[in-house]
Amino acid sequence: MERVPERVLISGGGPVGLICAYALAKENIPVIVFDENSELQEDPRAATTHPATLELLAELDLVGKVIEQGLICPIFRFWDRPTGNLVAEFDHELLRDDTDYPYVVQCEQFKLTRILIDLMRSMTAADIRFSHRVTSVLQEDQSVSIEVDSPNGINHFQGRYLIGSDGGRSTVRTEAKIPFKGFTWAERFLVLSTPFDFEAQRGMCHRNYISDPEEWCNCFKVAGDGPPGLWRTVYPEAADVPEADLLTDEYIQNKLQNFFPSRDKYDIVHRNLYTVHQRVAATFRKGRVMIAGDA
Ligand SMILES: Cc1cc2nc3c(=O)[nH]c(=O)nc-3n(C[C@H](O)[C@H](O)[C@H](O)COP(=O)(O)OP(=O)(O)OC[C@H]3O[C@@H](n4cnc5c(N)ncnc54)[C@H](O)[C@@H]3O)c2cc1C
Repeated sequence: MERVPERVLISGGGPVGLICAYALAKENIPVIVFDENSELQEDPRAATTHPATLELLAELDLVGKVIEQGLICPIFRFWDRPTGNLVAEFDHELLRDDTDYPYVVQCEQFKLTRILIDLMRSMTAADIRFSHRVTSVLQEDQSVSIEVDSPNGINHFQGRYLIGSDGGRSTVRTEAKIPFKGFTWAERFLVLSTPFDFEAQRGMCHRNYISDPEEWCNCFKVAGDGPPGLWRTVYPEAADVPEADLLTDEYIQNKLQNFFPSRDKYDIVHRNLYTVHQRVAATFRKGRVMIAGDA
């Protein structure tokens, strides 16, 4: 009988798959990560890393690197849009007796994934393969096998365990027949990033939630490529408007001017529309298959 390779297979090289890979490789457990993209994705997604996650990153000796590339933010505020009044200010400093990290760090998730890839380059236990899409999963008593579609054709890999960290539309979760109950919100989120300095120009702190019965907004600072950084604003968008209409220059300028009137046009660095799901998997483990993160 052929020996099963003593390794863990990981489908999905987003922040969760790469953290899993790094944690295992650090313990000299061989891993192979497969990601269907040809390179790391740099779209503006997660930016806020909360104290509990900072503690986890500290266990892996990663927290210093994340702080170096991010912004430490102890405070966040809620505003009332109709009156412009400050409703509440929360200060993580109150958690000082409970955590070594009484703040959040605003650090874009692609910076964390870049840090992880760089660290794993020199680790013999880690093997990361882009342009490799996991298409099917087969579990046996002592092993798990996957089929992978790659630039050199269809290949098969075997390991002791498989982690499905392949995002909300996880192939691994589907193949393992793990139910994923919940719903998708009809409302979508429009994310606009601009270098406009909301702190200097409007006295905002680095994390703001602006409430309104009709149309809310979030406004956060991220470090970007260095000072002066970037500000991300997030808005709800109705279900029935075509995506192309929501991403035009005219619509975007009106949106920002409506919330934050300014003499000048806003410089827009990113514009994205996201769908929001509210779902949870029935189990995070089935035999030799585990699912993690958005999966
Ligand atoms: C606008 C926005 C803002 C957000 N803000 C925050 C925030 O501030 N803080 C926070 O904690 N979270 C935030 N999130 C959520 C956060 O981005 C996700 O929870 C996070 O990306 C999940 O990481 P993941 O590794 O599980 O999945 P993903 O990041 O989705 O990565 C999955 C990876 O799997 C790969 N893949 C998929 N299918 C396959 C396959 N079959 N074979 C091989 N590879 C595959 C994909 O290419 C991808 O690289 C935000 C999300 C959005 C959209």
